[in-house]
Amino acid sequence: MTDRTQAGEVKQISSLTNPWVKDVRALSMKKTRDETGQFLGEGLKLVTDALAENWPVDAIAFTPAVREQPHVAKAAATVRARGGSVMEVSEAVLAKITRRENPQMVVGVFRQRLKPLKEVKVGKGELYVALEQVRDPGNLGTIIRTVDSVGAKGVILVGETCDPYSFEAVRATMGSMFHVPLSRTSREAFIDWARAGSLRLVGTHLKATHDYRKVESEAPTVLVMGNEQAGMTDEMSEACTVRVKIPMAGQADSLNLAVATGVMLYELRREALS
Ligand code: SAM
Repeated sequence: MTDRTQAGEVKQISSLTNPWVKDVRALSMKKTRDETGQFLGEGLKLVTDALAENWPVDAIAFTPAVREQPHVAKAAATVRARGGSVMEVSEAVLAKITRRENPQMVVGVFRQRLKPLKEVKVGKGELYVALEQVRDPGNLGTIIRTVDSVGAKGVILVGETCDPYSFEAVRATMGSMFHVPLSRTSREAFIDWARAGSLRLVGTHLKATHDYRKVESEAPTVLVMGNEQAGMTDEMSEACTVRVKIPMAGQADSLNLAVATGVMLYELRREALS
């Protein structure tokens, strides 16, 4: 069934067995995301952030309750004008797609977009973050959001990492994933790239003795963070120009990865942010 609104042609879906519903619901599986090159995100903010960055949005879906809201109508019109689909769906359909009891009233289907590492050029005073084998999608999303907050330039996923396009990672970015370029590479290729660009790799390591507050922040820099359980590999640690530690006073063995990344980012960006 079709209808015409301010947004253009809108497909209305209320059947839980509609093939589109099935396809979008399947985006919760990594296999489907890899095959289709798509991912799902929840909330109007995510959709408007994606559109603001000219990010490819394949579809927007929303409930009748919000269809008249100006920002929803505008986002729908933009998606439509750029060749995407606009769906008006029941709340039950949204709950099925998102696998959540109380989903937000707007969702988007987006194209994945990774920046090849060879196209990443780190300029003087610029900062990137490399995450070796990050496993927790909540940590990854939080780090992408923090990278955006401090005006760092991008995130490089090194080795086997969790999927940045999982629902949980995307949600934790709060829209920042559309503003922060992401790259993915092997450890060997990352180390070669850093050497070829004469980049300063600031590694964070629990066995380091150098205080993280003593690192200068002028050079082209990549902050390197280790895995949640095992920390950084020896190969990566040896490749780092400097290894630093964030002092701790209590009984904890280490900081959470996203928290440690936040502390480091604020220190390395202290001059830019002051
Ligand atoms: N058991 C792991 C280890 O021995 O490295 C703990 C890993 S920690 C949860 C995850 C990452 O956060 C570390 O690889 C490091 O990059 C960073 N990190 C956490 N606490 C840190 C600290 N106090 N100083 C420097 N880096 C830290």
